[in-house]
Amino acid sequence: MPDVVTLDDIMAARDRIGDQVRITPFQPSASLSQIAGGPVWLKCEYRQATGAFKLRGATNAVARVGKVAGVTTASTGNHGRALAHAARAKGIPAIICMSRLVPQNKLDAITELGAEARIIGDSQDEAFLEAIRLQRDEGFALIPPFDHSDVIAGQGTLGLEILDQIPDAATIAIPLSGGGLLAGVAAAAKALRPDIRIVGISMERGAAMAASLDVGHPIEIPELPTLADSLGGGIGLKNRLTFAMVRDLMDDLILLTEDQIADGLRHLARDGHMIEGAAAVGAGAVLSGRLRADYGPLVLILSGENIDPLRHAEIMKGTP
Ligand SMILES: *Cc1c(COP(=O)(O)O)cnc(C)c1O
Repeated sequence: MPDVVTLDDIMAARDRIGDQVRITPFQPSASLSQIAGGPVWLKCEYRQATGAFKLRGATNAVARVGKVAGVTTASTGNHGRALAHAARAKGIPAIICMSRLVPQNKLDAITELGAEARIIGDSQDEAFLEAIRLQRDEGFALIPPFDHSDVIAGQGTLGLEILDQIPDAATIAIPLSGGGLLAGVAAAAKALRPDIRIVGISMERGAAMAASLDVGHPIEIPELPTLADSLGGGIGLKNRLTFAMVRDLMDDLILLTEDQIADGLRHLARDGHMIEGAAAVGAGAVLSGRLRADYGPLVLILSGENIDPLRHAEIMKGTP
């Protein structure tokens, strides 16, 4: 039985990080409401300072590390940025480990936030070994992107915020990768509103959580390129928390094709939301007809905005 993240943990996280993360705006989508057969709300979490919700979890985890030489992780995406930002805000060093193959713009995003980008080896696995070494030999705290109780509790503050803003929400649709976001939001929302429906959404191509749920335990599957790149990556064969929480708290799982994700991106861009693929899966699911709002208000979490602008422009040119 994993130690579960509780509503108390999440409320404590909100008190702890409340002055360091934004309360993000929410707005109705008339076009998606019409298609979904009921009210659809967009929760604009990409408006966090680092462009994604991961700032919540990273800020909560950094606040709780105690006396350390600094913090480290091996993520170059939204978690790496969030950890760099949170460490600078607390005035402690951050080393973000990455492989030589990481594109320059991602590396720059990390160093601009005041963290050291440590280039190690040719793969993410080698970068991860360096983060482990920093923890073992140099007194750094290793903060993983999702499978950590303080990270999950931090992401859970988004669940409290959604119910503050949209108290009659019937369904929350959540982009799903490692499951820190879904676990935290669902733990908060279901504790307050046991009747609420939690729907996870991933891509068909290489969704490790979906494959793991199918067989009943964490497994590895090949990672494939996807428009929803922030949803790629494994869940860890030794997953401690998020696998069980997602299994127990999620009511439905929807997997989308690349075309459906692109449809979601284009639709939201027309409504003025310049976001990344992972953040558009909720809209993609509504447009595909598989996510409805007949039985009450549906909330879509627009989770992040960090997409290469050229890539975004290419997708916009695609056929609708
Ligand atoms: C990390 C991330 C997700 C998925 O979060 P998990 O906690 O790994 O499930 C979704 N959207 C964006 C933009 C992300 O950065």
